[in-house]
Amino acid sequence: AALDRIQALEPTIHSFLHVTPEYALEMAQQVDGKIAAGEDIGLLAGIPIAIKDNMCTKGIPTTCASRILENFVPPYESTVTQKLKDMGAVMVGKANLDEFAMGSSTETSAYQVTANPWDVSRVPGGSSGGSAAAVAAEEAVVSLGSDTGGSIRLPASYCGIVGMKPTYGLVSRYGLVAYASSLDQIGPFSRSVEDAAILLSAIAGYDPNDATSLKVEIPDYTQFLTPNLKGIKIGIITETFGEGLDPVVAETVNNAIAQLKSLGAEIQEISCPRFRYGLPTYYIIAPSEASANLARYDGVKYGFRSENPDNLLSMYKKTRAMGFGAEVKRRIMLGTYALSAGYYDAYYLKAQKVRTLIKEDFENAFEKVDILVSPTAPTTAFKIGEKTADPLTMYLSDLMTIPVNLAGLPGMSIPCGFDDNGMPIGLQLIGNVLREDRIFQVASAYE
Ligand code: GLN
Repeated sequence: AALDRIQALEPTIHSFLHVTPEYALEMAQQVDGKIAAGEDIGLLAGIPIAIKDNMCTKGIPTTCASRILENFVPPYESTVTQKLKDMGAVMVGKANLDEFAMGSSTETSAYQVTANPWDVSRVPGGSSGGSAAAVAAEEAVVSLGSDTGGSIRLPASYCGIVGMKPTYGLVSRYGLVAYASSLDQIGPFSRSVEDAAILLSAIAGYDPNDATSLKVEIPDYTQFLTPNLKGIKIGIITETFGEGLDPVVAETVNNAIAQLKSLGAEIQEISCPRFRYGLPTYYIIAPSEASANLARYDGVKYGFRSENPDNLLSMYKKTRAMGFGAEVKRRIMLGTYALSAGYYDAYYLKAQKVRTLIKEDFENAFEKVDILVSPTAPTTAFKIGEKTADPLTMYLSDLMTIPVNLAGLPGMSIPCGFDDNGMPIGLQLIGNVLREDRIFQVASAYE
């Protein structure tokens, strides 16, 4: 049924870079075989799932939506996709994204633009736009995305579904193609909070192959799905209701907060004064890490290599000039500049210090409340092409999600209403470190 749906909708939505029907049917048959043999089938047996195309899948192309990885077929499986396989999930395809997950609209993909299923003239958000659109359009039941500055929560908000970025280190990054390693996290997209809880329980957990993986006990997150919010303290981040926020988004999010109150939560305003430095801090740290991570694409080890170079240096240069798109080159240049001798202290080191201050704001807030709320994004999904000429306005889409990555906290976007054009609006729930339980509690009560 998922493959039929994909066939019917892909010509319009373009969620997938590669659909994998043979693989999916083989996986499904394995599940059938287990059922017939009376064997244990896994938690996710037979569930059609889409995977963002920056997670390595053995024998199946993994392009990061970049020309430079056009012909790359990973020789190994990422930890998350291995776990899903072991639990019987059926991958139906690799989902489109902004090139190397750099972007907020999925328009920087070198291959195709994904449409928002609610209005195909609009973007699905990014960078995990393909994963979000696939779930919103019911081409898959659930999907995985990655979130470095908002890339799960923003497209979840724009596509009217649930999207969660877990605590940094909760889900293994082994086999996730690195963008900004100190910020990257894999997380679930789903149409219900319960499905997100099931999928997170399946993919979370310590992995010796990821040096930043946390050694913690993973609960079954579905046990936290209760309708009760009595005694829960919720803080509204004052600074996220300022300038640039669409009035309809503000009103809708305020209505959602009123509903949380009627469910028994105590509501208060909390100021995070250094939240507003999140965006400039991020745009030093993320490109710096990206410039180092992307140095490995030199035409020698992976994917694309330019033809007829004059010598080794010209091969490197031509490969990178032709293989990377404009946004990726912009990030590499920004990062290389910020890390260069003479500027390191002024930019990179300064940004790291501000990152600590942002973390402190959250720490102070979580002394008073259990959960913080804000809009997920200042606006709803914009028109395809509307912001491509102006990277700075594009960067503003992540204003409210970025500080959460800088502090390593868990965050979720859940649908909370629609604007006058019928486009979905998202409510962001932010928890303290490893307090995914609280997020699930509040999200399920609201839902
Ligand atoms: N839009 C942000 C960026 O381009 C965030 C991307 C992400 O979370 N991967 O860096």
